[in-house]
Amino acid sequence: MTSRNLLNRLPQERHSLLRELGALADERGASLYLVGGVVRDLLLGHVTLDLDLTVEGDGVAFARLVADRYRAGLAVFERFATARLVFPDGLKMDIATTRRESYALPGILPTVQPASIEEDLYRRDFTINAIALQLNPGQFGRLLDAYGGQRDLRARTIRVLHAGSFQDDPTRIFRAIRFEQRLKFRLERNTSRLLAQAASTNLIQQLSGPRLQNEILLLLGERDPVRVMARLSQLTLLRFLHRRLSYTTNVKRVVTTLPKALVWWTGRFPDREIDKPIVYFMALSSESSQAVVAAMIRRLALSREQARKVRAGGPLADRVLKRLADERVVHPSQVYRLLVDLPDETLVLVLAKQMRLQQAAILSRLKRQLVAYMKNRTIKTALMGRDLQSMGLQPGPQYGTILGKLLDARIDGTITTEADERALACKLLKKGLSSFVKREASES
Ligand code: ATP
Repeated sequence: MTSRNLLNRLPQERHSLLRELGALADERGASLYLVGGVVRDLLLGHVTLDLDLTVEGDGVAFARLVADRYRAGLAVFERFATARLVFPDGLKMDIATTRRESYALPGILPTVQPASIEEDLYRRDFTINAIALQLNPGQFGRLLDAYGGQRDLRARTIRVLHAGSFQDDPTRIFRAIRFEQRLKFRLERNTSRLLAQAASTNLIQQLSGPRLQNEILLLLGERDPVRVMARLSQLTLLRFLHRRLSYTTNVKRVVTTLPKALVWWTGRFPDREIDKPIVYFMALSSESSQAVVAAMIRRLALSREQARKVRAGGPLADRVLKRLADERVVHPSQVYRLLVDLPDETLVLVLAKQMRLQQAAILSRLKRQLVAYMKNRTIKTALMGRDLQSMGLQPGPQYGTILGKLLDARIDGTITTEADERALACKLLKKGLSSFVKREASES
């Protein structure tokens, strides 16, 4: 296939858009290229969603022009001479100025200067990501592959462009693993040696929390995070999350069962989307102490929401699992109380942990409990605080206790109507709250 035909692999409307943009660049006297992962994926025959363009000239000015003409949303990152556009149909496009990068210190973001397309390709991570397709009319579809990208694609090889690559940017260590595992490629020998060398130093420690987080979560969001984790462990890279984090047999078992748990969950509750990277991270840290988990949350600068989920893994998931398997937990409301404050990710983790134990009866009971719980969590009481107030209840914590009792009874199906709720509320009030609260305490 000629490279001209390569662009025909894009959907018709994308193809036409690129032709129009090529013509627009020509009018401005600039050269325009499609570049990086998009070209790699086109050559591999994979579907690509977002487009990466680079301009030999002023990329940001060109991006403004395009945004204006196509009514696309625009965000400009002046420092990196890049812009991101979002077209009305949802297409995302990055437009950058071709540039060279210099690294003052390893691990720190580079300073950038405009440069030729060849130099721009040379600053990229791997040869397979350093191929460009020109878009100007007359040159439309011309392939630029100065560093053997196509050769390495054919040989299914990940290769850095120069020996200092991992030093310049240690995120490339993780990127190499990402592409290696996703594409089922191999690291070229010298690249493998350079990677091992870079990984044996403390270069990665110099990465900021958000940059490390980005790489780790991207890796755990790949199609097969199980292979990814095994590889991270083999290369002793997990120590950069925490020096005491290790891929023990138990952790490995949980991680390996997670895909099955996710398939079950998604089949049952398609609307309850799971944060996949985070649930894998929870599995990875499922045997770590609270202190180690807290340190990893800090190191990765996880958001409040991500941190809440991660904290609800580990020992907590084990406790929940044990309680759910307890024969004394018979009422749906008991299951509800156990699970109600937990993120869905913990439920998936609990399921994976149980699946790994291969106890068929307990596993089917757990699945039934989860299905019932997901239904029950939507149940609400008809009565509210103000109804109790009009029944003469003085302000105080009893409101929560009585409403909780009503909800439990609804969930357990012992009451079904508003009238039932009123009757039960009256009974509870009449019985005298002090004895009721006392009994509650002794029951729990
Ligand atoms: P994915 O398919 O995961 O999106 P991608 O190759 O498109 O992978 P991006 O992170 O979107 O990756 O980056 C686009 C391109 O920018 C890459 O193909 C590569 O050429 C270049 N690039 C990205 N990150 C780096 C880096 N850390 N060092 C050098 N070049 C990079």
